Amino acid sequence: MTEGSEARSLLRWYRRGRRDLPWRRTGNPYAVWISEVMLQQTTVAAVTPRWRRFLARFPDVGALARAPLREVLGEWAGLGYYARARNLHRAAKTVAAAGAFPVTVEEWRALPGVGPYTAAALASIVSGVAAAAVDGNVSRVLSRLHALRLDPRSPRGRREIASRADALLARSSPGEFNQALMELGATLCTPRAPRCPVCPLRASCRARSLGTPEAFPPSSRREAPRPVRLVAGVAFRRGRILLVRDEELVRGQLTVPLFRVPAGRRAEDVLQKEWKAVAGLPAGALEPLARLRHPVLDRRYDVHVFLVEESAPSRRRRPRSPSGLRLLFPGDLARHAHGGLLLKILGRLPGAAVPR
Ligand code: SF4
Repeated sequence: MTEGSEARSLLRWYRRGRRDLPWRRTGNPYAVWISEVMLQQTTVAAVTPRWRRFLARFPDVGALARAPLREVLGEWAGLGYYARARNLHRAAKTVAAAGAFPVTVEEWRALPGVGPYTAAALASIVSGVAAAAVDGNVSRVLSRLHALRLDPRSPRGRREIASRADALLARSSPGEFNQALMELGATLCTPRAPRCPVCPLRASCRARSLGTPEAFPPSSRREAPRPVRLVAGVAFRRGRILLVRDEELVRGQLTVPLFRVPAGRRAEDVLQKEWKAVAGLPAGALEPLARLRHPVLDRRYDVHVFLVEESAPSRRRRPRSPSGLRLLFPGDLARHAHGGLLLKILGRLPGAAVPR
């Protein structure tokens, strides 16, 4: 089978049974762009309702560009990786100011937060540019199709996969082709138990003929996430919850105060000792609330959460609150605070109002 016929088989398969995803029906560059950004690191099932809601709230690129960042972040709450939302907002301003969407891969790449995969996907889907888009699903399919023994994350592996993707690309329908290859990786050529008997590429797939499709791509040894113990304190002042902006542990998001717990120390002792420097008042009684696990990139947080009853300030000398402290009513949290860890912590408050 020639590469041309592989591409044709793939397109036939895709056109017959492609998933009915709402952004595929729009033909709207903005709608497709939002879907591509949301789908990075997030599943189709989780994205679909959030995409609809985002489009209802910010129906076009102008609306997104005009919206305050905090509203965009609020709408992003729970999707994680907030840098994506910040970049999307900045990029929307650029596109709105230019008065037109990018066309070429290079033009898409010039927008904040748009990497090589997203640029190629958008240029091909939106403008029919003949560019192969390679994500994790596509890498896996191509590794298997050609039985490549290279780590697709290595520079050599990446170059090889990119060249194979380019050679396979259906230049008459690059957008559809890219989506077809991604769909194949997401639905049939899955990491475990690929469904080779119904695959449109089975006739030419080398990994299948070797009988070991799951052995491709070779697994690269990833370092296990580093465990980090933290303690978090939840305190209320006149019905408002106390928050701080933490650059180190949650990348500048608002959070309840968080502290690292060194080995051999008790979480509650660390909280008692460190609280005043951050919150301005000494911590009084602590009530255990929850213990949570929360993954962040290369770290795995193990968080002990306590309700903190602060000692009342003296009437004569009211302490000055440290800068950066925020006090928000629970009903206002959704507009200002959206970190995944914060949402988890607030979700453990008995009867507390939680954003979304
Ligand atoms: S035949 Fe199997 S291993 Fe090969 S591309 Fe299709 S699903 Fe993947």
